[in-house]
Amino acid sequence: MFDELFGETLPVGEAGLVEAIAALERLKASAAARQARLAVAFDTARRAAEAAAGVPAARRGRGVAAEVALARRDSPFRGGRHLGLARALVAEMPHTLAALEAGLLSEWRATILVRESACLDVEDRRRLDSELCSDAGRLDGMGDAALAAAARDVAYRLDPHAVVDRAARAAGDRTVTIRPAPDTMTYVTALLPVAQGVSVYAALKREADTRCDGRSRGQAMADALVQRITGRAADQAVPVAVNLVISDQALLGVESAAAVVAGYGSVPAEIARQMIGAALDDPEAVTRLRRLYAEPGSGALVAMDSRSRIFPKGLAEFIALRDQRCRTPFCDAPIRHSDHATPHRRGGPTSSRNGLGLCEACNYAKEAAGWTVDTDIGENGVHTAEFTTPTGARYRSTAPPAPGTPQAQRRRAAAKRALNSGDSTEAA
Ligand SMILES: [Zn+2]
Repeated sequence: MFDELFGETLPVGEAGLVEAIAALERLKASAAARQARLAVAFDTARRAAEAAAGVPAARRGRGVAAEVALARRDSPFRGGRHLGLARALVAEMPHTLAALEAGLLSEWRATILVRESACLDVEDRRRLDSELCSDAGRLDGMGDAALAAAARDVAYRLDPHAVVDRAARAAGDRTVTIRPAPDTMTYVTALLPVAQGVSVYAALKREADTRCDGRSRGQAMADALVQRITGRAADQAVPVAVNLVISDQALLGVESAAAVVAGYGSVPAEIARQMIGAALDDPEAVTRLRRLYAEPGSGALVAMDSRSRIFPKGLAEFIALRDQRCRTPFCDAPIRHSDHATPHRRGGPTSSRNGLGLCEACNYAKEAAGWTVDTDIGENGVHTAEFTTPTGARYRSTAPPAPGTPQAQRRRAAAKRALNSGDSTEAA
């Protein structure tokens, strides 16, 4: 079986190719089931060891989700979800786990069932598990949305109060987030209780419908959103504060290297210059130009060190601009803290080298016993951090090259060469 699927030669004939694709999908699902059992065993072993070492119950198992995430090359946020899924499947949902093991249910579909039954007590959850998954044929051909709806129906029938309470609690999760979209666009997303969300959308739509000036409805709604929130017309709105890192050469238009907008990522130099120009023309906007010093030769950003235990504002901003996103491998979350890689209490200096931009969750995960982080600034000037977990596994993260530095130029040149030669591995 393994040779057939992973051997040198591909199966012969269309039917053979399709059957191999289907077999690999079943294999991915069974691998996910095995990972769930392994994650629970790892969690149990760690907690037992910590209990034996006298760690208080409330603090046991603290870094486990983060370690599972690193092992799966996934973000710590998803690591928490993977571990929660594993615990629910192994302890409370044996039929769902069996369907996953047999390849009848994907890991994502198992996650949907766990999520939709999370508000139920153990007994009701077992009933839902048995009702939906003891006969796996029942799920055949059902789409993800239909599966979620079926699970919600069963949950509501078993315990309507739990479902209603959960909806009330969910309102506490309301929030606004931002993430990059292609072509220098961005998604600003609001998670709102349904009545508020529908009324926000209806208000924007009503405003858009009263205009007939050649803009599409979507464009008019987007402009109305900007105007209502910033109080200024969309074409004049200036952000409250935008941190833009751009090389002097790109700022002056001598070269076209990308600039970096903090919290967003790379933007073309031309667009960065437009943003700066618009801010300079605006009497209400304050534009500050601050120099970040680059090391001669390597061009890596360097900053002063400090004796203080708290990162001074300038150094913290410098680290945030250097790292751009949380430095835990695979995390990607926005930076919330400047953290000492080697803690201050163990003699770690307050410096740009020992400083790491981390998100809130990773800052706490790293404080768990047995985690160490070693930082270095390589000969090429690139800041690297090596995370070692309690099992001795090591994972590296590298600060992105600053705009206009030799590394950024080399990386661009390598990517261009790879594109021209059609060899995509060189760009990695
Ligand atoms: Zn993080």
